[in-house]
Formats: sequence, structure tokens, C-alpha cells
Amino acid sequence: MKKYVKVVGTSMLALGLLVTPVSANDLTTPNNPSVQAFDNKIVKRIDVSKIYDHISHLAEEIGPRVAGTEGEWAAVQYIADQYRQLGLEVSIQEFQFQRGSTTITSHNVIATKKAHKNHDTGQIIYVGSHHDSVPGSPGASDNASGVGVNLELARVLSNMQTDTEIRFLTFGGEEFGLRGSRHYVSTLSEEELDRSVGMFNFDMVGSANAGDMIMFTVDGERNTITNLAASSSLRVFEPLTYGRVGRSDHQPFHDAGIASAAFSYAPLEPEYHQPTDTIEKLSMEKLENMAYVVGSAVYQIARKDTPALENARVAPQPVEPPFENRPL
Ligand SMILES: [Zn+2]
Repeated sequence: MKKYVKVVGTSMLALGLLVTPVSANDLTTPNNPSVQAFDNKIVKRIDVSKIYDHISHLAEEIGPRVAGTEGEWAAVQYIADQYRQLGLEVSIQEFQFQRGSTTITSHNVIATKKAHKNHDTGQIIYVGSHHDSVPGSPGASDNASGVGVNLELARVLSNMQTDTEIRFLTFGGEEFGLRGSRHYVSTLSEEELDRSVGMFNFDMVGSANAGDMIMFTVDGERNTITNLAASSSLRVFEPLTYGRVGRSDHQPFHDAGIASAAFSYAPLEPEYHQPTDTIEKLSMEKLENMAYVVGSAVYQIARKDTPALENARVAPQPVEPPFENRPL
């Protein structure tokens, strides 16, 4: 008679991060058999045409959104308005910085989805994207695409029960040295920093002419964010790799001790920072896949049946994504 061996549950299971082994060939989106019911709550609600409309408004109707200009301010008002329509708590944060002898006034947009009051882990996660662009470029990929996906995830998640506070952020002045994200992080209190579990940063998430999806950490190490996205990518898309790059809005969060990663497609498209960074160069499929992967990862940690991480520095049991030294 075979002896019964009890298999002890792992924290991986408790966190719902256990990945059903599937071969890469089985992975198709979104009918992938490994897509969990909770992923489908996100994946089936994502509407890529809404992402496209946001990008069109920002990159075509407004155009260049250089920090401190009317273009950037128009983007700020549009974004704040979109978040408000979702019933989120919205504020516009003003900040100044020097560029040569000029003082530039720029703005961040902060939209908060509070945790359900009876199920509140006390934790915060951030979803961020810069809304400014370089001079002379409509910045469709860089970074109207990131704002478009951010706004769509805010729409989808705004109706769902979550037990973790989600802050949707868009930053000004990224192109002049991560000015908005640095300012935002500098305004977080010790108490808020302690409650901060991680930050997902979108930067250039839809160019048809860029390479494959990748996530970048500042130190080239995996963390809570990459573990969540490695896991969700297996379920709703295809296995993700990660690499080491700072110099985007995840950097100030990392510097403050918050697990963070930038999500992008690399290597970069040839239109990067050019007047040719226009909406026709974007791929609906890439925008959609990005929303699936990060949306499912955010929901995994924020939904109310996922136990809270004990603190910001404890990662769930990792799915090991391969490291790739790919330039952004
Ligand atoms: Zn950018």
C-alpha cells in the first residue's frame, strides 16, 4: 500500500501565484486555458479601442506635451477629467524645476482608488506613466501609449472590489529628468512609504516597430512587481523576460525602497523622440497585451481574496523570468 504523503501548502499557493505548468505552445490570448477566472475579469473588460482613443486625443488633438507648455497642461486636464469620470479621487500636483535659467512649472495627476473599507490591507500600489513628450514630437508611443493603457486599467479596475489602495499616476517633466516622479515620491510620508508595496511604470508600450515586451528593474534584480507580472504573463500572454534599465519613472520609487519595474517593448523603435512618433506606428495588439499582463498583475495583488504581503520588502514566491540584457 502506498503511503499517503501530505503535501503542505505553500505561500505561493496562498498568494494564488502558483502557475499551472503549460507549454509555450498552449499560450494564446485570451482563450489560454491557464487564464484564471480572476484574470478574465480584467482581460475580458479591456477595450483596446478606448486605449486608442486616449492616445489619439493626446498625440493627435493635443500633440507635443512638453513640460511647462500649454500642451502638457491640456493633457493634464484631459487625464484628470478621465479619472474623475470614473469616480476616483483626483488631484493635480504642481511642481517647479530649473532648466538652465528658466523655471518650469509642470504637473502630475494623482487618482486614488481606495480599498474596500471592510477589506483593507493598508497597502498601496502605484500604476504610473509620464504624460509629457519631447519637443517636436507628438509622442504617441512615448508616452501617450503608456497613459492610454493606464487610463484603461483605471476604468476596468475602478468597478472592482479591491482590498489594496491603487494610485493611478501620470507624471510631468519625465523627459527633462524624471522631474514629476521625483517630486511625487518626495511628497510621500514615511507612513505612505511603509504602506507602499510596488509600482508599475508604463513607458512606450505600443510601437509596432519596437521589439518584444519586457520589464526593466533599476538594479537588474527581480522584485514583487516582476514576480507578479512574470506570473500573469504566463497566464494571459506569453512568458516575459526582464532586464536592467533605470532612467524612467520607476527609478525614484526604487530609490525610495519601493519595488518597481518599467514595462516596455525593446529594442526601441526608430521613431523614438522623433516627429515621426505618430499614432499610425502603434500596434493595437501590443497595447492590448500590455494591458492584459499588467492589468492581471495589478488585480492579482489588489483583489480581496489575495492575502496581503506582510510588508513592501517581501516578494511572493517568484516565477523566475529569464534575464535579458536588452537595451531600452
Ligand atoms: Zn518616455
